Amino acid sequence: MNTIAERLQSAYHQITQECTKLGSNPANVQLIAVSKTKPLAAIEAAYQQGQRHFAENYPQEFADKASQLNYPDLIWHFIGPLQSNKTKLIAEHASWFHSLDRLKIAKRLSGQRSDTQPPLQVLLQVNISGEATKAGIQPEDLMSLAEEVHQLARLQLRGLMAIPAPSDQQPVEHSFQRMQQLSQELQQAYPAATELSMGMSNDWPSALRYGATMIRLGTAIFGERTYERNE
Ligand SMILES: *Cc1c(COP(=O)(O)O)cnc(C)c1O
Repeated sequence: MNTIAERLQSAYHQITQECTKLGSNPANVQLIAVSKTKPLAAIEAAYQQGQRHFAENYPQEFADKASQLNYPDLIWHFIGPLQSNKTKLIAEHASWFHSLDRLKIAKRLSGQRSDTQPPLQVLLQVNISGEATKAGIQPEDLMSLAEEVHQLARLQLRGLMAIPAPSDQQPVEHSFQRMQQLSQELQQAYPAATELSMGMSNDWPSALRYGATMIRLGTAIFGERTYERNE
């Protein structure tokens, strides 16, 4: 069985190879290590290898880990569903929030983000595969939510996120391609919204072909998760 260090080095290597094939610059792709359900020691092991971007899914687990790890250059992303009674945990501890899909949550986050911190960097989650998941806004609602989020003082709109699921009607590539189109439209209106967070352990090479700038890898870095929490 491989160690976290070996898996991480192998992921960096594969990302560089894929980018070379595509003629794109690997420096424009951020590997985000998804550490949900994994112990602090696993995060520390990845950090020792030079990994700086980490993501969590469950607000309380995220806040606990973020308060216990004191590396000033570790960058936290929150990528899970968020209820309004948990927004403060994210406003306090995250640099990036990938799963914004409601104005109510956006307003709370902006209100709770302290002036001593940089604005929270947010991505709007798009429900690109229809039925497969409830999370995310419909593509047709994207520009109106973007407009409202753009007005909020303590949030900075930085791009889009999706968790496409393959279905009988639609291969995952089709969803990645639509996300790439939506991302280009969004960037025309909001030039800072350059990020496209898509691709996980089993489909990231394909996400890179459609312009992903952030790929979220859990299993590929930390191994199988032995339990899933439910909050
Ligand atoms: C768990 C999770 C991941 C990582 O999934 P793997 O298949 O283990 O790489 C990525 N994104 C989100 C939103 C997740 O919840």
